[in-house]
Amino acid sequence: MSDRIECAVIGAGVVGLAVARALALAGREVVVLEAADAIGTETSSRNSEVVHAGIYYPPGSLKARLCVEGKHFIYRYCAERGIRHRRCTKLIVATSPEQMASLEKIRAQARANGVDDLEYMSAAEAQRLEPQLACVGALVSPSTGIVDSHALMLAYQGEAEDCGAMIAFLSPVLGGAVRNDGIELEVGGADPTRLKAGLVVNAAGLGAQAIAGRIAGLPSATVPPLHYAKGNYFSLVGRAPFSRLVYPVPEPGGLGVHISIDLAGQARFGPDVEWIKGLDYDVDPRRADKFYAEVRKYWPGLKDGALQPAYAGIRPKLGPAGAPAADFVVQGPDDHGVPGLVNLFGIESPGLTASPAIADLVVEKLRPCF
Ligand SMILES: Cc1cc2nc3c(=O)[nH]c(=O)nc-3n(C[C@H](O)[C@H](O)[C@H](O)COP(=O)(O)OP(=O)(O)OC[C@H]3O[C@@H](n4cnc5c(N)ncnc54)[C@H](O)[C@@H]3O)c2cc1C
Repeated sequence: MSDRIECAVIGAGVVGLAVARALALAGREVVVLEAADAIGTETSSRNSEVVHAGIYYPPGSLKARLCVEGKHFIYRYCAERGIRHRRCTKLIVATSPEQMASLEKIRAQARANGVDDLEYMSAAEAQRLEPQLACVGALVSPSTGIVDSHALMLAYQGEAEDCGAMIAFLSPVLGGAVRNDGIELEVGGADPTRLKAGLVVNAAGLGAQAIAGRIAGLPSATVPPLHYAKGNYFSLVGRAPFSRLVYPVPEPGGLGVHISIDLAGQARFGPDVEWIKGLDYDVDPRRADKFYAEVRKYWPGLKDGALQPAYAGIRPKLGPAGAPAADFVVQGPDDHGVPGLVNLFGIESPGLTASPAIADLVVEKLRPCF
């Protein structure tokens, strides 16, 4: 025997909470099953908290579309609800003449994604804005900003709960089985149980493949591989040198060691890209050498000893090092054949920005099963 619920959302990161909110607003009964004892303890609290404009992703990709939609939603939602955020703008800087061509490509790609507000700046113009900056030219992105990601998650949670949703903490999903009348989930923790849900959304981030792989009746060929690309951050001792975000031209696997500034004005550098085998959030202080070299390309004033290991996040990559960046994977019944199930895989950056739009897409895929 198992208890029956209408919708189970697995994972209370920013994406699971956005999905819970959207399903609850659509009138569904929702239970969020979360392995940890609080919301957003994994990737959702280990990122740059940047509201991305939607610049870098291949035109037509889910990343491009959902990032742009999510950005508009997040600015509106944060303004309406008093969630702390700042449209601080970002500079993408070329630090060698050869990189100017990359800026042109980035601008063209942004336009193709519907982001048509990028402007070129000469080195002198960029330095008028940010006197400590060294570059040969820059693009300015006015619609890039930062957000208090925890406050955003709390708002999603609050709205979901107002519509009747519940979060069950310390409730790891161990596996499941496809039945005639829904999906039976095996839930561990102090009081193990079985739950049958008509609709299941697997938003477990780094745990999504493990769960999908243990759902009997889901074709295993539909579960993509998972590779971990860690992003380490170093924080800056002392005052932030810039008031805008400063990004280099992107590197393979990530957006390059950039400076972001949190809402308290603390500056941090990162994330880099370190391919790892298992989950490990320690920041190796020896990686600082590479950070000093990378950051000094656009901020020569960085002093020795100014960087301190801060934190790390892990990107759930669908391809190994060197493979082209994969798109978000949002698999619904039409993709894997299991009614009522959506699996979310590879929700790396810009997943925070895209979270409300991912949630809308999940609801769209599940609506025929309501
Ligand atoms: C280094 C880095 C920097 C980034 N910077 C940005 C940025 O600036 N802007 C941006 O838009 N995006 C950014 N991102 C991406 C963004 O952080 C993620 O896309 C987003 O946080 C993913 O949210 P999620 O809910 O899918 O995953 P998570 O936050 O990881 O949540 C998954 C949840 O599922 C739970 N879970 C796992 N397994 C189970 C299980 N078996 N049973 C129950 N629960 C389970 C976990 O405990 C966790 O709470 C960045 C990512 C990284 C790694």
